Amino acid sequence: MHELSIVQGVVELCEQHCGGRRVLAVTLEIGSLSGAVPEALEFCFEAATKGTLLEGAELEIERVEATGYCSDCGVVSPVETYFDSCPSCGAPALLLRTGEEMRVKDLEVE
Ligand SMILES: [Zn+2]
Repeated sequence: MHELSIVQGVVELCEQHCGGRRVLAVTLEIGSLSGAVPEALEFCFEAATKGTLLEGAELEIERVEATGYCSDCGVVSPVETYFDSCPSCGAPALLLRTGEEMRVKDLEVE
C-alpha cells in the first residue's frame, strides 16, 4: 500500500471540506484489511501536510477490526484474512462486514 498517496488523498479531502480554515485534528478510520499500516500513515502525515491547511494537525487513527457475515448460518465473526471460513459452521466464505474502512471520520477546524 502506498501510505503517502493515501495521506495526500486525506489532505486533499480535508482541504476541500475545511472552508479555508486551519485543520487542528483529523480522525481516520482504518480497517484491519484495508492494507494501510497506521504507523506508516502517521509517518507520512507530517511530511504530506507541510505547507497545507493541515500542517501541525493532530492525526488520530482508529483501527476497525474486520468482521465477516456468514450467509449460511447468519453468524458475524471476526476475521483476519479475506479467506477465513465461518468459525461456527465451517462455510468457506464470509461476506466482509467491516475491515476495509479507510476514511476520514472526523475533522476539527479552527
Ligand atoms: Zn456459518
